[in-house]
Order: sequence, then structure tokens, then C-alpha cells
Amino acid sequence: MKSAILTIGDELLGGYTLDSNGAWIGRKLMDIGIRTIWKTSVGDIKGEIVEAMALAASKADIVICTGGLGPTRDDITMDAYCEFTGATLEMDEGYLELLRERFSRRGVDMPESNLNQGLVPDRGTIIPNSKGSARGLWCTVDGTWLCILPGVPTEMKSMMEETVLPELEQMSPNELIITNIRTTGVMESQLHDLLESAMEESAVNIAFLPGFSGVDLRLTAGDESAVAELASNIYDLAGKYIYAEDWVTLEQSVGESLREKGLMLALAESCTGGLLGDRITNVPGSSEYFAGSVICYSDKAKINLVGVKSETLKKYGAVSEETAAEMAAGVRKVFDADIGVSITGIAGPGGGTDEKPVGLTCFGLDDGEKPFTRSVQFYRDRRFNKELSAQTALNSVRLRITGRI
Ligand code: ATP
Ligand code: MG
Repeated sequence: MKSAILTIGDELLGGYTLDSNGAWIGRKLMDIGIRTIWKTSVGDIKGEIVEAMALAASKADIVICTGGLGPTRDDITMDAYCEFTGATLEMDEGYLELLRERFSRRGVDMPESNLNQGLVPDRGTIIPNSKGSARGLWCTVDGTWLCILPGVPTEMKSMMEETVLPELEQMSPNELIITNIRTTGVMESQLHDLLESAMEESAVNIAFLPGFSGVDLRLTAGDESAVAELASNIYDLAGKYIYAEDWVTLEQSVGESLREKGLMLALAESCTGGLLGDRITNVPGSSEYFAGSVICYSDKAKINLVGVKSETLKKYGAVSEETAAEMAAGVRKVFDADIGVSITGIAGPGGGTDEKPVGLTCFGLDDGEKPFTRSVQFYRDRRFNKELSAQTALNSVRLRITGRI
């Protein structure tokens, strides 16, 4: 089965909102063996939406649309759905009553514009929304399965997971076995060379999916044991780069390891400005293993907050392995943690010298036993450097816990 994705909203075309919904849906469909062959974004214009629905339906067996299902005047996806499917809108008094109750529980009268959300086409099946008020809908038009979902990412995701994906899985039982292995700290070409022999011996289809902070490997085949065999060979050859499978992030996987081992982590962040602390605390339950982070951006902060010696700063500079080592040891002490990790670098675009160019970043890790430091030369883009620095520091925790550094 092939799918098409249609994302709707002027804000997507104007560049105000990045189409993260389209990317998420594409990946989720791929996980159940449905390949997306076409994706487009259209503005909030009924004619354009209907036209795009027709084009999508002419190309794919499944069409998933998001956006424009809210109560305001620019939300016209429901109208477009009616025109495309030949449905007419009817008022669902029961649902309207439910919405009124929801508003009154919050102590407000329901705004007039929310009346729209009680309207339901006489064609299609409702997709409930446990996170908001705009319900979705699915139906079959000339053999194509079509659904419309709201644009709010949290609502769209829960509706996909609770209703759409189970429905599609039933419709097209996945005969493909798919395993997604996630790596970091290795370049795509390097990984390719490392795995060449294993790939040659295997009939399993392997896709290299590079992201900015790592490469995912997607193994696909009809034969479960063949996938398992290749996966096992990949673990043997590239195990030190592998941090998780499927949708698990590095912060989740490192967090889980810290929790299992009963270790507390503390951070001293300079050039990342708290980015790593943000990533770690995005994981629910992180308080079990995360003590805290100090953003010690200035020299003074490095001295006063995490105990870096002023002589060290004078002699080696703020971006040096010597300073990184003292930051890591210092922050470990400040928080009475098991592992202290530090990041100090020149994020750019200014501030570089011949000796210490933009992108130079130094890392420290101190667990009270075997202090570790390293320097990495990143690129010229500031945000990119911050993200890569956070990833590298987090990966160093994984490498230490698994005894690789
Ligand atoms: P609402 O009830 O909020 O009006 P809606 O279904 O009408 O829901 P939109 O108005 O299109 O959805 O968008 C709601 C929010 O979701 C906006 O903040 C928008 O930026 C975001 N959003 C919409 N489409 C996408 C998308 N494709 N990717 C990421 N975010 C999106
Ligand atoms: Mg809207």
C-alpha cells in the first residue's frame, strides 16, 4: 500500500511553521510498512485543498490530511472534505452538548465559533480526539482511504496512534519485518565501510538514514530471522556507535542506563547554554538521575560556580581540555553527583583564532575515577555546533557507562 500526505495551512507555506507533522506521519507509516510516495502542503483555500485531495487520491491508496480542522474561519478542511466526498454537514447535538460541558467546567461560555465543531459530515467515520475538541474523520472514496486530522501536533499524533495506525495496520497487515537501529558518533560513509561485509552476505534491505546527529539504519525484509541475523552482525561490527532502536532518543537511552545503575548526572554547560539540560529534562522521570546543570558561560561563572582555577583559564583559555576537566570535576562536586560532564566551545560565527578556530569544542567527564577529556572540531554554524556539542557530551556518558571510554 502506498500513501500520500497532505498538510494544510497558510503558515506552512509562509514558512512560519515547519511541517513536522508530515515528517512524523511519513515515519510512522514506514514503521508499519506503508511507503509514502507523495507529500504536499497547501494553503487555507478550499479549492486548493479539494484539488490536492483529488491528486493525492489519484496517486495513493491512503491519503492522510492534517490542519484546518479548528473552529475559526480559516479552518475549512471539513468543507473541502465534504466537497471532495460529496458529503453534507449535519449538527451533532450530542457532541455540542459535550463541548458546552467542557467549556462550563472551565468556567467559560462556549464561544460562537466552536459551534462549527459540532458539525459532522453524513459520510465517514469519526476519529475521536482525546487531546482537543476538533474531531477527525475517515472514509473511503473510490477505493482510496482518506482521513482528515487536526494540525496541532499533539492532537494529530494521539489520533494517529489511537485510531488511524491501528486501522491501517488491520487494512494492510505488514508482511515486512522492520528494525531501526540508531547510531551516533560515526559518519555515514564510515559506517557503510564498517558494515560492508555483513551487508554483502545478507539479502536484507538496508537503508542508511543520516540525520544531523547520527545515522539510523533501517533493516527491511520478509524474513524475520534474516533481519535478526543482520542486526546481530551490525551490533558486532558497530556496537559502540549504537545507542537505541526505533524511536528511542539518546537522552532516553542514557537516562535509562543512569537510572538502572542508580547514578546521578550533573552538567556544566558553556557554549550549549543549557541545551543539554533541556534535552535531558524532556524525558519524564529524569529527576531520578539528573541532579542539575550550571550554565557557566563567562570566565567568572566558571570560576565562581564550578570552581575552575583562574590560572587554568589564563594559561589554557576557556576553550581547552584543561578547563573542561575542571568544569566536569567541579560540577560533580557542586551537585554531589556521580558523573560530572562539561562542554566548552567556540560556537561562532565570531570568536575564533588560528589556533582555536570556530567550532572547536572541548568536553570533560569526571566520575571520580577516570577523568576523560576530548576536543572536537565542528563547523561554522552556531546552532549546529550547539546541537552537536550537546549530542557529543551526552554520548560520552553512554560511552563511559558502557565502558567504552
Ligand atoms: P486548531 O483547533 O488549533 O485551529 P487546526 O486543525 O485548525 O487546529 P491548524 O489551525 O492548521 O490546525 O494548526 C494548529 C497548530 O498546529 C498551529 O500552531 C500550527 O502551526 C500547527 N501545525 C499545523 N500544521 C502543522 C504541520 N504540518 N506541522 C507542524 N505543526 C503544524
Ligand atoms: Mg486552525
